[in-house]
Amino acid sequence: MKYAIIADIHGNLEAFQVVLEDIRAQKADRIVCLGDVVGYNANPKECLQIVREMNIPCVKGNHDEYCSSNEHLEGFNPHAADAVHWTRDQLDDDDKKWLRELKYSRMAANFTMVHATLDAPERWGYVFDKLAAAASFPYQNTQICFFGHTHVPVAFMRDTVVRGGTYSKFKLDAAKKYFINVGAVGQPRDNNPKSAYVIYDMDAQTIELRRLDYDIAAAQKKIREAGLPERLAERLAFGR
Ligand code: ZN
Repeated sequence: MKYAIIADIHGNLEAFQVVLEDIRAQKADRIVCLGDVVGYNANPKECLQIVREMNIPCVKGNHDEYCSSNEHLEGFNPHAADAVHWTRDQLDDDDKKWLRELKYSRMAANFTMVHATLDAPERWGYVFDKLAAAASFPYQNTQICFFGHTHVPVAFMRDTVVRGGTYSKFKLDAAKKYFINVGAVGQPRDNNPKSAYVIYDMDAQTIELRRLDYDIAAAQKKIREAGLPERLAERLAFGR
């Protein structure tokens, strides 16, 4: 059984379509999504529709939460708030209800899915380093947990201590626990503009990070035409 693990689609339809094609080509049997289907890019409605139609199990991201509520955006910078308001206007009540009802964490097969952290998933903390990963591990009841949110693909593992680093493909060791960030489909931030997702091969016990070129210019054009902040178009070209 092969699982495709996707995260942080963020309304980037061009990237999402290329990832879905690759998932088909890789013959993955199932897909799961680690949240932030919407926010930032110009096709939140279309991306959400695909996730819903394909019945992709999904957990809630912070943007899914912001964009599905009508709450005032305390502490947001004005550009971020503009993008959330724009996204709210694209989604209908049924979309918002679907997003609101997502859980912060859930299981699929033998692994856990969460957007941000396991110790306090609703607080949207960022796991960039071993210290932050070490706080999540005590709450992890499965060998593997996949997470998103930072848009930076990195894998942490724990035996007696917690180690971490970038990865492309590795074999799982049954004696270790893993907390793995799968990177972002729709807005990579590791200085690599290619779209990212992971293939987890349960039979071979391997984790493989896939990186894919997509039509960045088309996604940027839509962002500009929608009147979304220019910075959101620019960053796609740099992957940060
Ligand atoms: Zn995100």
